[in-house]
Amino acid sequence: MAASDESLRKALIDKQLAVDSQGNVVRALKADKASKLEIDAAIDALNHLKLEKSSIEKELQAAVSGGDGNAVTREAFRQAVVNTLERRLFYIPSFKIYRGVAGLYDYGPPGCAVKANVLSFWRQHFVLEENMLEVDCPCVTPEVVLKASGHVDKFTDLMVKDLKTGTCYRADHLLKDFCNEKLQKDLTISTEKAAEFKLVLATLDDLSSEELGAKIKEYGIVAPDTKNPLSDPYPFNLMFQTSIGPSGTIAGFMRPETAQGIFVNFKDLYYYNGNRLPFAAAQIGQAFRNEISPRQGLLRVREFTLAEIEHFVDPEDKSHPKFSEVSHLEFLMFPREQQMSGQSATKTCLGEAVAMGTVNNETLGYFIGRVYLFLTHLGIDKDRLRFRQHLANEMAHYAADCWDAEIECSYGWIECVGIADRSAYDLRAHTEKSGVALVAAEKFAQPREVEKLVITPIKKEIGLAFKGSQKMVIEALEAMTEEEAMKMKSSLESKGEDEFLVCTLGKTVTIKDGMVKISKEKKKEHQRVFTPSVIEPSFGIGRIIYCLYEHSFYKRPSKDGDEQLNVFSFPPLVAPIKCTVFPLIQKPEYEAVAQRISKLLTAAGVSHIIDMSGNTIGKRYARTDELGVPFAITADSETDVTIRERDSKDQVRIIISQVASIVKDLTEGHKTWADVWSAYPHHTSVNGEDNDL
Ligand code: AMP
Repeated sequence: MAASDESLRKALIDKQLAVDSQGNVVRALKADKASKLEIDAAIDALNHLKLEKSSIEKELQAAVSGGDGNAVTREAFRQAVVNTLERRLFYIPSFKIYRGVAGLYDYGPPGCAVKANVLSFWRQHFVLEENMLEVDCPCVTPEVVLKASGHVDKFTDLMVKDLKTGTCYRADHLLKDFCNEKLQKDLTISTEKAAEFKLVLATLDDLSSEELGAKIKEYGIVAPDTKNPLSDPYPFNLMFQTSIGPSGTIAGFMRPETAQGIFVNFKDLYYYNGNRLPFAAAQIGQAFRNEISPRQGLLRVREFTLAEIEHFVDPEDKSHPKFSEVSHLEFLMFPREQQMSGQSATKTCLGEAVAMGTVNNETLGYFIGRVYLFLTHLGIDKDRLRFRQHLANEMAHYAADCWDAEIECSYGWIECVGIADRSAYDLRAHTEKSGVALVAAEKFAQPREVEKLVITPIKKEIGLAFKGSQKMVIEALEAMTEEEAMKMKSSLESKGEDEFLVCTLGKTVTIKDGMVKISKEKKKEHQRVFTPSVIEPSFGIGRIIYCLYEHSFYKRPSKDGDEQLNVFSFPPLVAPIKCTVFPLIQKPEYEAVAQRISKLLTAAGVSHIIDMSGNTIGKRYARTDELGVPFAITADSETDVTIRERDSKDQVRIIISQVASIVKDLTEGHKTWADVWSAYPHHTSVNGEDNDL
């Protein structure tokens, strides 16, 4: 718990005790019929203490609401952002004229443009930079694929039901809301209780179904809408089920992630890459999750765009040749030990985090660094971005390490990118299910002599002993690890038998001497065959975009100060439209210049809008600032024009023939506004007002 928060809670309890005790003094004086002077003095002291208590309460309220004001301010800020986004059609609730469906949203024109820009930069920053192999696979996926990956059995969230109405809720969300509410609204809880609620919040993703159920019972949490009792938590599979073809016999699902499409293509992609590792494949596409209770607007939806990378490496060498390019970066990191002990994220040097083993390996570290650069380049505030390591239970059992890029917005810290070392799990699972070996090979320059474990089940003996189960026993014996096999060998030699667990039978059987031969033989090998490990950065594009909207939004007063105007300060790279063009006044010569510039911009591939409406300049600027358009070109002569930058409102004068190339350079990042400003005649806005040159 933060020191100030903790000390304020203590101070509040002490002050309450002082108020109670002074209250007793006043009552005693009144009962003893003390003098008016004495009673008034005691009441004054009581009022003084009450004032002090209320001031501590206010301070504590501010501290628990996140320090940046309070929950009301955050809510008002979010409303302002969301209203602007909806009014300017960045997004639209889907099927709105039919009253919509929770968790489904359309992107309107500026939203589509922002998304296209984010994806285009993603391709440049990742796919192009690393020569990744991009694929595009179907959303409809046969059951067998998702059975192999574990999604059919395990892609679940824990749900509780209102025992009377049957309404469903996500169990962890109810517990989270309860703890947050207690911490933010109940200022009288003890410091110990506050610490407990904070620990529950920090370790929420780590709780098992039983632990979650126990906490819900312990805190007496009931259905939020009806106050009815709740069921125990139980798993709900988030995949949308469908069937493929008219007969309905081929079961399928809408994919919950794009990764599986890459894994099942591994063999061909590896061949395409010249049978060399490491390499990465990438995919951008829709993912579908039937979220139990979608809330938080664009952040938790039922269909969304994922951009995923699967970087395949040799499990024995997870170094990365370009790690030194990102190792100097410093940003907020939140390792699991810090979370468990209630501390906050700290600014950490990435190189040190990898060297100390906090981050499992260089390749994982490399992608953490690249994700940091990607997000901050888009316009995400680096002080509201942290990398949080998964807690032990939160991480899949096969994963070697996992970090989420979390961005802070008005809803709190939101997971926007997951970066996981998934070891060899997925390729092994598909190898097993499909029978196609998804493996890589390292060819040796010189053949190597190696000692190889040879397990030879004696089929006749096993057949006699296990009859119908013999196939399962033989397969299990052949699949033993070296350690298991050597243990069995020594047991057979010393005791003549060994107890052996056959998972596919679900029981232990007795293997007798003579049923299996286990030996180590020297062999010449020309290559090493292995299942690659995979490191997976997975980007929720909609979440990143929403956080970007919040981080870019601000308000500023209109010229005459009677209105607050909305601005999105998108970097030119992300802005939905790069510039507007309009004549200063409705004059044919200026209109012709505006048309000419528009043609030049089109030819240069710069998105723009031309505005001949004749509205006042102030109105035109306000409309485009609200869309985050970074540059405005005003045609006010037949030789040159002004370009105005959105946030500073500063202007430069440029001759018409150069306008398109300068705006193109600005939007593609080849030039900054400061470069243009120093190179051309310019004009600074006076008191933040637009003053045309
Ligand atoms: P996961 O496979 O659960 O790690 O999810 C990968 C990424 O997808 C997350 O980092 C989120 O950015 C995004 N994501 C997951 N679920 C949703 C959802 N319901 N709505 C929007 N984005 C999501």
